Amino acid sequence: MSHSISDFVAPFSGELAYDPAVVERFRFVGVAQQTCTAQVDGGWSSMLRIFLDKLLLGPSGFEVAGVPLPVDGRDQLLFARLTNLLSDGDGHRLALDWRGASGLKPCFKHWSVFKKDSNLASRKPGFVEIDCSSSALFRSWTCEQLYQVVDGVAAAHEAAQAGTITKAMFEDMTASVGLNFNPRGLLSDTPLRYLCVTAVPSSHP
Ligand SMILES: [Zn+2]
Repeated sequence: MSHSISDFVAPFSGELAYDPAVVERFRFVGVAQQTCTAQVDGGWSSMLRIFLDKLLLGPSGFEVAGVPLPVDGRDQLLFARLTNLLSDGDGHRLALDWRGASGLKPCFKHWSVFKKDSNLASRKPGFVEIDCSSSALFRSWTCEQLYQVVDGVAAAHEAAQAGTITKAMFEDMTASVGLNFNPRGLLSDTPLRYLCVTAVPSSHP
């Protein structure tokens, strides 16, 4: 059975650094069939969360237990951490439950960047549009800031379900932060969601 490239979530890769002193890195690569991810509760973001959990935090995970590696005839434990999660814009959109480059927040990395011609940046001190030429004005999330926003999306979803706020209010809130609600996604996982700040690159120069 053949597949076109559009059948796949963009190939992703990650870089694991195991010795900061010598800056040695190695890379893993994977792809997922979109018709498969669409059938999973929580989609690609949930699949990636489970994969990274096993890779990093599981019983033989790189971060926690280390992986035995034969060196000169003896097993050495290899510890590593994920430093870069690489994909194209659509891959990051799906992985992070982010609304993507066409949303109000066209860069996941920088909370201060609005879509071009959104007419919002001029009304909010500290914000710019994505065509701003001064990269010093692009402000990255801290982990705590991102966690607060993600938890805010979850709280807004609960309020919408309870009828405390309208569906339209919930939609406006999620659009304003550029994120979708996904209780099974990578951003919802407390031990792993720091990766969404530390390992995801900017989507513009
Ligand atoms: Zn950015």
